[in-house]
Amino acid sequence: MGAAVAYFLAQRGAAVTVVERSGVACAASGKSGGFLALDWCDGSALGPLARASFALHADLARAISTDYGYRRLDTYMVVARERGSVSGGHRVEAPGWIDGDGAVTGALGSTETTAQVHPARFTNALLDASRATVRMGVVQEVIERDGVARGVRVDGETLEGDAVVLALGPWTSHVAGRRLPRVRGLKGYSVTLAGADLPAHALFVDYRTADGRALEPEIVPRADGDVYVCGMADHAPLPEAPEGVEVSDAACEVLARAAGRVSTALAKATITRRQACYRPVTDDGLPLIGRVPGLPGAYVATGHGPWGMLNAPATGLALAELITQGASASVDLDAFDPAR
Ligand SMILES: Cc1cc2nc3c(=O)[nH]c(=O)nc-3n(C[C@H](O)[C@H](O)[C@H](O)COP(=O)(O)OP(=O)(O)OC[C@H]3O[C@@H](n4cnc5c(N)ncnc54)[C@H](O)[C@@H]3O)c2cc1C
Repeated sequence: MGAAVAYFLAQRGAAVTVVERSGVACAASGKSGGFLALDWCDGSALGPLARASFALHADLARAISTDYGYRRLDTYMVVARERGSVSGGHRVEAPGWIDGDGAVTGALGSTETTAQVHPARFTNALLDASRATVRMGVVQEVIERDGVARGVRVDGETLEGDAVVLALGPWTSHVAGRRLPRVRGLKGYSVTLAGADLPAHALFVDYRTADGRALEPEIVPRADGDVYVCGMADHAPLPEAPEGVEVSDAACEVLARAAGRVSTALAKATITRRQACYRPVTDDGLPLIGRVPGLPGAYVATGHGPWGMLNAPATGLALAELITQGASASVDLDAFDPAR
């Protein structure tokens, strides 16, 4: 979110400083699936934000010269079990590489409606294109003078600014305190697999482990040849900082095994990365995008839950419009008003 806001602010002529405590894209924005869908948020308040974002992703991929793995995909629903095969075979025409003991039960999206980015490369590309100054350090608090946000305290030093945007993901409440609705972190695991050369497809899998756990792993082959697999929600508490996030090898093995049950190429692939990260979630499931209540000059962009990579562009654009013009012209932000 910080990178997206920086990009669209810079497009409007603002000089932007991004403060990052650990590393650009070190958390969910570097370790997520990067899966994008045009219409999967339809029917909820997120629908227009997601549609605007999906279109902006295509524009950004053209406007930014760095290749960050943006491409359109066909997306399938698959049923698989850790033990035994699914009877009846594929219910729809299935790509040849889905040749394990599972079954493809439907098409969830096409190249018209689903796409992907490599999340870490996308975040870095946005930030590079913004030409923002990146300042490494820990934001401790928002500095107020005369009831207006004037900057932030970073490792004891004051950093002045005309506007302050809080985009600390699941850590946003650590700095915002009670000024904003609570933002929590929901942990998830992921692995990347190498050695399987797969086409541009994404799979959403209905999976049962041998001991009866119901999981919904997502399998997303990437443009760079890696295959990303995520799932396994975990209610472990959010650590103080991203470097404190612990990875469970057992959870990662479950994900890799699930991928291997779907495809023989994935059964032979090797695990190259075991990761975990926390998506920022709010109590009502909607992101916080807008002014921080009671503190002029302060804004927030977080709480996007499972759709933060998808919704970053429209969030960044809308917030940049709000900051520089006083209102968002591209997306109606009412549903995401932090004062709701
Ligand atoms: C396993 C998993 C898979 C996902 N897959 C998808 C997907 O396929 N598609 C999709 O759209 N979304 C997906 N998401 C959701 C998406 O990743 C998140 O919604 C999004 O990355 C959140 O971005 P953010 O900028 O709000 O938070 P973050 O990415 O967490 O960024 C917050 C940043 O703030 C920094 N920070 C924290 N505290 C401080 C401080 N005090 N001072 C300075 N810096 C600080 C952190 O170091 C971090 O870099 C997934 C999430 C998970 C967990």
